[in-house]
Amino acid sequence: MAEETMSAFFSDKPVYRFAPSPNGLLHLGHALSALLNHDMARTANGRFLLRIEDIDLARCTPEFEQAIYRDLAWLGLDWERPVRRQSEHFGTYHAALDRLTEMGLVYPAFMTRGDVKAAVAAYEADGNVWPRDPDGSPIYPEDDRHRSETERQQLIARGLRHAHRLDMRKALDLVGHPLAWTETGDGGRGQIPADPAAWGDVILSRSDAPSSYHLSVTVDDAAQGITHVVRGLDLFEATAVHRLLQELLDLPEPLYHHHRVVLGKDGRKLAKSEGSTGLAALRDQGLLPGDIRRMVGL
Ligand code: GLU
Repeated sequence: MAEETMSAFFSDKPVYRFAPSPNGLLHLGHALSALLNHDMARTANGRFLLRIEDIDLARCTPEFEQAIYRDLAWLGLDWERPVRRQSEHFGTYHAALDRLTEMGLVYPAFMTRGDVKAAVAAYEADGNVWPRDPDGSPIYPEDDRHRSETERQQLIARGLRHAHRLDMRKALDLVGHPLAWTETGDGGRGQIPADPAAWGDVILSRSDAPSSYHLSVTVDDAAQGITHVVRGLDLFEATAVHRLLQELLDLPEPLYHHHRVVLGKDGRKLAKSEGSTGLAALRDQGLLPGDIRRMVGL
């Protein structure tokens, strides 16, 4: 089918996606997300896409990617091909970063994770409390934001590795109005006020990866025409950053549905390293896809 005919054919259908990172084996939490996306797409007579979020080239492997296809097929899911793999679209993320840079909203950030940790520890040694983002990570210090252009060029010329960060204050000033998103999930419904400032100057590209989660997820949801983002409540607050990037880059706004997170026996979020809740391990124990549905409460 020609591309225009295909987009006309698909144009009014809702589009859902499951977007795992191949940096470990899928567990019950991923199963809930994938099954929900798939079921909601089917109920709405919509499309179900799979996206491989593999911008972290150091931690993502082809073996884990193959395991994702195997586990999802075993669950009985079917998704459209070709699958979008983020590692094949670095040019697209770079173009988005360039656009934000031209808008004067991006600066080179030279502090390593260790530098930030040390700055926070020094500040907190006096009994002060360094501000944290909604995930509990320290807000990035302001030093790099205040450097002059000459100083930035000198540091880059010296070969200092750097990331790129969004100047949050400037970005919010440019947008000039409060942001919100439409939510239908388990964390409150209706219009949710977005607070991107709570994240500080978010990272847009890393020194060891040519994009960041926030930038690539926002660009890809638009590129794939995603109309419904269905994902875990652990990403609820991150939606504020995605709404801001959509606004800055003139991208459409999908509807959001953040679902409950599957917890382990210890009451904590499942980690990819926990083999006992891994789908492959459960399959090897003789469990069936229907058992997995029951275990995640579907
Ligand atoms: N790749 C992300 C993860 O595995 C999910 C991104 C999203 O659904 O927005 O946690």
